[in-house]
Amino acid sequence: MHVECTTHVFTVRPPRAPPAAFMKIKTAEFEVSAPTLRSCPEWALPEFAFIGRSNVGKSSLINCLTGRRDLAKVSDTPGKTKLINFFVLNGAWGLVDLPGYGYAEVGRQRRLEFNDAVADFLSGRRNLRTVFVLIDSRLPPQPIDREFLRWLQSCGVPFAIVFTKMDKQSATQSRTNLDLFDRAMTEDEIVPAQTLGTSAKTGAGRSEVLDYIATTLARHNRTAE
Ligand code: GDP
Repeated sequence: MHVECTTHVFTVRPPRAPPAAFMKIKTAEFEVSAPTLRSCPEWALPEFAFIGRSNVGKSSLINCLTGRRDLAKVSDTPGKTKLINFFVLNGAWGLVDLPGYGYAEVGRQRRLEFNDAVADFLSGRRNLRTVFVLIDSRLPPQPIDREFLRWLQSCGVPFAIVFTKMDKQSATQSRTNLDLFDRAMTEDEIVPAQTLGTSAKTGAGRSEVLDYIATTLARHNRTAE
């Protein structure tokens, strides 16, 4: 498991070996908002999707990763929150901003709920290379996130866990929550492809997420050759 939450992430990084693959974001363009899987773009671009509960910091992280102040705000305009939003990065890959998940009250029970288009997309989109599941690093493991991850794993699509807002508490507090989450994942037999800590405010973890994408793209391109 790869979690960076030691203090050096938040201060000065010591010199480190160059990453396996490096990505500079040169262009980031909004493509389309799709209400259903069928209306998603018919292109060959490999895609990386971002999902999390409302307020987890998804828009902030997308803007931080792409270096654009309000790219993800496109999806925040009223009426667009239930749509799947596609962006083209460097003309080479698709960044997909997915509507979040939540609980619905069904009688006296609470049930995990996200819209059908998201379920269809996550279980049936062939272009999808990785789903980044955003988790608020300030909270102990939440049943809703665990439930979503169990469902996502059953879809068979690779996913990575991205902890957000790592700057908001001490490194010790982050470590405690991340350890608790790790234990919950073991209990639930959830096996993410990668686990990363990020802060949209300080930019911590940004290069790790982009390196992960670059490495996955390089592998994809080798397979496609
Ligand atoms: P979304 O609903 O998941 O898209 O969440 P937003 O990106 O809109 O963020 C929700 C709130 O958390 C906003 O007030 C952001 O400024 C704040 N926020 C998001 N990411 C971070 C972060 O890494 N650090 C801090 N300190 N605040 C953050």
